[in-house]
Amino acid sequence: METIRIAIDGPSGAGKSTLARSVAAKLGYLYVDTGAIYRTIGYYAYTRGVDPGDEDAVTGSLPEISVALSYGEDGLQHMQLNGEDVTEEIRLPEISRFASAVSAHPGVRAFLLEMQRKLGRENSVVMDGRDIGTVVLPDAQVKIFLTASPEARAERRRLELERRGTPQPFARVLQDIRERDWNDTHRAAAPLRQAEDAVLLDTTDLNFEESEAALLALIRERTGGA
Ligand code: C5P
Repeated sequence: METIRIAIDGPSGAGKSTLARSVAAKLGYLYVDTGAIYRTIGYYAYTRGVDPGDEDAVTGSLPEISVALSYGEDGLQHMQLNGEDVTEEIRLPEISRFASAVSAHPGVRAFLLEMQRKLGRENSVVMDGRDIGTVVLPDAQVKIFLTASPEARAERRRLELERRGTPQPFARVLQDIRERDWNDTHRAAAPLRQAEDAVLLDTTDLNFEESEAALLALIRERTGGA
């Protein structure tokens, strides 16, 4: 059976993961959160005292790193770093910065590319990230560039952090979002950009249900109602 690949890219906090996860469940596809994969490398650097901006140090430690992804009985994507489940740990706010910094190194991106492509070859997937439509799955049948204003994204992220029990002030979250936007769009290796054949979906003024309905409509239109 032909597998379907749906690529969802966009900046931090646009609601990609929540929407992608929910849409994948509705379609019966696998949800792949590629940010979690980069976070796992960021977490490695964080815990081992590796400077995430030091390309040689980060790339040099890759041979010691084994990253694996599995789906728990809860249906959630779990990340393993050298056999240890780090699913919770990679969500710590400081890991965002480490993930963003390590993801700028071409060696890191190359190291993680095949594991992402394999998931898309073997399963029908909804995969979200920054370079899914442009680099990882250029042949995806549906490509969506999901965005929202920095303020709307910061407010959503602030609420999420509050829910997780790690609250941060709005100004701090906004500054972090702006920094990550800058890093993600200005890096030389696979910068965040809308693929030419991606559809832009701006969710600034849409709530979750409206965003999800818009996404599902786009997907059905492009996959002939699959
Ligand atoms: O999506 P999330 O915020 O969890 O991603 C963490 C970081 O990983 C991002 O800031 C981005 O720099 C990086 N990333 C990436 N390419 C992807 C997914 C995430 O560079 N496909």
